[in-house]
Amino acid sequence: MTGPFLSLAQIHNRLILTARQVLRQHRPGPDGCCPTCRTTGCPVADAARDVLHTATRVRLWATTPPPDDSVDPPQPG
Ligand SMILES: [Zn+2]
Repeated sequence: MTGPFLSLAQIHNRLILTARQVLRQHRPGPDGCCPTCRTTGCPVADAARDVLHTATRVRLWATTPPPDDSVDPPQPG
């Protein structure tokens, strides 16, 4: 449920929560296949991972740019 008058922080938080939920739903099983898509390279999980990575890099009230991507540790799926 996305209301029409959400703050930027609320939209940001919901974006992160939704991406995490999608990642949980598309977490590969022991055979390496996505239980939802039934593929090995789940494009939905990749997209959710990208959204999560981008959304967590956004600093809404920052006055300085975020640090370089190359020093960021890999995000656990
Ligand atoms: Zn999937």
